[in-house]
Amino acid sequence: MAEETIFSKIVRGEIPADILYQDELVTAFRDIHPRAPSHILIIPNHLIPTVNDVEPEDEQALGRLFTVARKLAAAEGIAEDGYRLIMNCNRHGGQEVYHIHLHLVGGQPLGPMLS
Ligand code: AMP
Repeated sequence: MAEETIFSKIVRGEIPADILYQDELVTAFRDIHPRAPSHILIIPNHLIPTVNDVEPEDEQALGRLFTVARKLAAAEGIAEDGYRLIMNCNRHGGQEVYHIHLHLVGGQPLGPMLS
């Protein structure tokens, strides 16, 4: 059984976060250390530690990450200029929190890579 992270506590409302969207499958909240004017994390409510752990039964929640990303990009006013969606995996990918999350980053030109 994978170990829970702080993100499970955010999903359950046990610790504060700036939650922008929540439904039965996913939760979206502002990154605590934003790397751009808009920096939102969108996560499945249930724990999937890394992309390496994704199973077919996760497909509905993972698809929802993208429809929520699209809606939040529009709500943030960054859809037309564009934005970046990032999901890091394990150490070489720079993953710090082992509950998969889609970074929605925008509001400024981002250059070739987010550092
Ligand atoms: P990653 O390196 O892809 O695992 O990204 C983890 C992200 O989670 C980082 O951008 C952190 O700033 C962010 N983060 C960590 N703890 C919190 C928290 N309590 N609330 C919001 N964002 C967080």
